[in-house]
Amino acid sequence: MSRCSRRRTPERGVPRVAGAGARDVAAAGAREVAGAGARDVAVIGAGIVGVACAIELLRDGHRVTLIEPGPPGGEQAASYGNGAWLSPSSVVPMSMPGTWRKVPGFLQDPLGPLAIRLAYLPRLLPWLARFVHAGATVARVEATARALRALVGDAPERHRRLAAEAGVPQLIERRGLLYIFPERADFEAEALAWRLRRDNGVRWLELDADELRQQEPELDRRYRFGVLVEAAGNCTDPGAYVAALAAHAVACGATLRQGAATGFRVEGGRLRAVVLHDGEAPCDAAVICAGARSRALARGVGDRVSLETERGYHAVITQPGVEPRHPMMPSDGKMAITATKGGLRVAGQVELAGLDAAPNWQRARILRDHLLRTFPNLPQDLPEDRVKLWMGHRPSTPDGLPVIGRASGCADVVHAYGHGHVGLAAGPITGRLVADLLAGGPTVIDPTPYAPQRFN
Ligand SMILES: Cc1cc2nc3c(=O)[nH]c(=O)nc-3n(C[C@H](O)[C@H](O)[C@H](O)COP(=O)(O)OP(=O)(O)OC[C@H]3O[C@@H](n4cnc5c(N)ncnc54)[C@H](O)[C@@H]3O)c2cc1C
Repeated sequence: MSRCSRRRTPERGVPRVAGAGARDVAAAGAREVAGAGARDVAVIGAGIVGVACAIELLRDGHRVTLIEPGPPGGEQAASYGNGAWLSPSSVVPMSMPGTWRKVPGFLQDPLGPLAIRLAYLPRLLPWLARFVHAGATVARVEATARALRALVGDAPERHRRLAAEAGVPQLIERRGLLYIFPERADFEAEALAWRLRRDNGVRWLELDADELRQQEPELDRRYRFGVLVEAAGNCTDPGAYVAALAAHAVACGATLRQGAATGFRVEGGRLRAVVLHDGEAPCDAAVICAGARSRALARGVGDRVSLETERGYHAVITQPGVEPRHPMMPSDGKMAITATKGGLRVAGQVELAGLDAAPNWQRARILRDHLLRTFPNLPQDLPEDRVKLWMGHRPSTPDGLPVIGRASGCADVVHAYGHGHVGLAAGPITGRLVADLLAGGPTVIDPTPYAPQRFN
């Protein structure tokens, strides 16, 4: 059963107070701030970021309308099909020193782990130039890692609390995360990435071949070295989790409105409504959480953000008969392998091809085949109906950091998207930060690195 909790004091690592029945507590929260700034807030998009924002805004006593064209947590959202990791170790940006040397390869190998569709290159160039720039020096990636750490450092605990509050504690687990390598030398070849992790408080255990075998008996023998990050968590069903959080928000008083936002009605500098295809949602504040589709909305409130879709894929083998004990990342595949409710999921790949190009399912099959090689005990001749394929859109900025902050053209609108590879993990703290920004007081973390104006 879900429970709404309301805010009493600014959060500083202190768990919020859980209340009794959803309606009573939500009403009490609204009464508490009614004279002191309760607002009608429209939250645009019900992926993990939108639902987390909705819950935190309700906690502060605001009235919330969630605007979403699809089912919350449905297949249209990146939040549905991700690798399901909630990992404090996800602090290493995609763009690293030396990435620029690999760009020709990204263009030539359409099935490589990171590929650029040639036809999309002209539109991608400004983003790509910023992407290469963001990772060009060690100092830059160190700063990015620190800013990512602020978002994901306590992700497992935040999700545990949120899932418990929403009545779905079973969807969040803490099994740790296992990075697997053919040899120790392959781990050492990633020295900068692991230094960034260590410098940002990530601790791990190194496992030799025997220890790795004990941890994961069914793993293919070609992996002879492992690194276990015990503090990491995972979600057993991201789509159901987002749906449950949306239902929790509704139980706490939010209104779910089906539709797609197209812009804003601003009069005299103040927000009056979010405009939808079929009318308006009156409000005096709004949060843009439309994931990879946020760019046009951002422009409508004066910010030209650099946002692309890093298209990713997953394959899920249903009834796999093999259950790894930990979520895993093979170094030779760069993909997330996670046991989920629907089956054994392998998620990954980065394809820069825009929002509208058709999926290239061959990429999902590459993930599937790597999974089959990683666990030889999986049934190798799988009929098509035992493997579910999916493609989705990571909302990605070139510097690997989300866009969170007040809009330049209207202070009543807050941006909250662009979380790239870490949006599931970073959803809850983003929700808190957004609510703090709207409150205008102290914020749970320093918002400076995520400012929308960094692209203007
Ligand atoms: C293959 C893959 C693996 C990943 N693995 C991980 C992982 O292991 N851990 C992790 O933390 N992150 C991971 N990610 C990233 C993570 O999934 C995303 O960063 C995160 O889901 C983004 O959440 P969001 O709410 O911003 O966007 P979304 O989940 O995409 O939600 C946006 C919502 O906005 C709605 N919307 C769009 N336009 C409008 C509009 N005009 N009006 C109203 N609503 C609109 C959409 O329908 C959608 O429901 C992965 C992503 C992929 C693709």
